[in-house]
Amino acid sequence: MDKGSQERITRKAKSLEEELRLAQELTKRERKVMVRRVSHIGIAVRNIYEALAHYDKLFEFVSLVRVETLPEQGVKVAIIPLDNIEIELIEPIDPQAGIAKFLEKRGEGLHHISFEVDDISKSLKSLGQKGAQLINREAWQGIRGKSAFIHPASTKGVLIELAQRE
Ligand code: ZN
Repeated sequence: MDKGSQERITRKAKSLEEELRLAQELTKRERKVMVRRVSHIGIAVRNIYEALAHYDKLFEFVSLVRVETLPEQGVKVAIIPLDNIEIELIEPIDPQAGIAKFLEKRGEGLHHISFEVDDISKSLKSLGQKGAQLINREAWQGIRGKSAFIHPASTKGVLIELAQRE
């Protein structure tokens, strides 16, 4: 075996060792966790009622719907509760709202995933210290409690919302 391939194998073995170490580290039972649950999945739509009817026709999952307007966020949302998670359909009511720009640029689609946390201020501080790009430095009052967004640039291209229940 030449020296180069020997080195490659050693490097590979080292990275496997590293992967194993990392996996063990991540599954340690006593480890403190920031996120235990996905609160909801947000989908940007042009019209929440049209989207509700469409989804219900396809999936027959709408048994209970809550519609709320968040004037400060410039949106109207329909919340569909499923077992232990909610689907949130978001429609802009203000052309200047982020969601309106999102629709204009990318059309309807997956907008964000919301992680439930116990202490949103603490989580935001911790994420900031770890270099995550925070869209909201301070949490704002959402439908379920406090909310804040983390920029997709620091979360593998997915807009992440933190949510703390009231
Ligand atoms: Zn949300």
